[in-house]
Amino acid sequence: MGQYVCNSCGKTHEITPTIWKCDCGGVLDLIKEMPVIDASVWSHYPNSIWRYFDTMPFVKESKTWESITLGEGQSPLIVLDSTEPNTYVKVDYMMPTLSFKDRGAAVLMTKAKELAVSKVIADSSGNAGTAIAAYAARCNIACDIYLSDETSPKKVAQIKAHGATIKQIHGTREDIAAAAQKAVDDEKVFYASHVYNPYFYEGTKTYAYEIYEQLGGAPDALIIPVGNGTLVLGAYYGFKELYENKLIEVMPKIIAVQAANCAPLVRAYENGDELAKPVTNQGTLAEGIAIAAPARSKQILEAVRDTKGTFIDIQEVEILSARSKLSEKGFYVEVTTAANYAGYLKYNKSPQEKIVIPLCGAGIKSS
Ligand SMILES: *Cc1c(COP(=O)(O)O)cnc(C)c1O
Ligand SMILES: [Zn+2]
Repeated sequence: MGQYVCNSCGKTHEITPTIWKCDCGGVLDLIKEMPVIDASVWSHYPNSIWRYFDTMPFVKESKTWESITLGEGQSPLIVLDSTEPNTYVKVDYMMPTLSFKDRGAAVLMTKAKELAVSKVIADSSGNAGTAIAAYAARCNIACDIYLSDETSPKKVAQIKAHGATIKQIHGTREDIAAAAQKAVDDEKVFYASHVYNPYFYEGTKTYAYEIYEQLGGAPDALIIPVGNGTLVLGAYYGFKELYENKLIEVMPKIIAVQAANCAPLVRAYENGDELAKPVTNQGTLAEGIAIAAPARSKQILEAVRDTKGTFIDIQEVEILSARSKLSEKGFYVEVTTAANYAGYLKYNKSPQEKIVIPLCGAGIKSS
């Protein structure tokens, strides 16, 4: 079912187990019609991301997801602090593998199962690899995860526990992706990439649907961390679907947060560029967003601009202090996630603005 279309040259491609980018090097998107949202069917599904199954590009009768779900989604939306009643945190570390990546991984691996693949490869700064490893185990599909040799030991242990083979590479995040992509092409297996595979975004878009249900509408602004843009794009696509279906009147502004030491998208936004030029990662504690050359930079910049949002960059000292401030309020997050709160503190909000900050990863993932 369905086809891919290249985001650069417009060429269409069949969806096969081995395709992951266009011959021209461009990233692939799904060709699909804007879903017609019928909220009355949501309650027919379990309380998880699968409430929104009808908006996802699967055959309507497909039940593959039922044996793959780990109960991901429907994370709590909580007022952060009673002194700021319009600021909410979405507690996405309450997920099966303790990060929001489960939203995307559950949907992507459901597609892999439908394509009857026997092995997947992924590369990750840690959490996407953990999520893919867990759902691959659930699907009985072999899985290799390519990681930096500097990845948090807790994340490596999580991946190992799910039975994935770990390939630790000494090099930059881009070197690790290149090693995984070479293996994908050599072994002719499925690339379970959260960056390249558009099914991942069909999962992360449920972030928007859940907020819509929990708030009874859209917030004014979404603070979102951005490395490769899986949550930025997912949130954008989800709210866009709600907007096109006239369920919300205005798109929430996307306020995207990067670490100043690795901020290619912030630079591109400031320069008015259409694409981000690769930067050199100067080193950041926010390992989960340290992406020097994001493959979907064009789409991320378009999404943020379309919502009249902006970009914010965070200094290293701000990250650790934001982490302790969050734990003082009861929320223990991984170091990368503290950047989201630091971004919120820097954002010039108006008093009545309704804002959602995602708590993307759990504190015990960091040392
Ligand atoms: C993956 C991840 C991010 C960033 O997501 P991108 O898709 O790279 O933009 C932020 N925080 C945490 C905890 C993550 O796991
Ligand atoms: Zn192309």
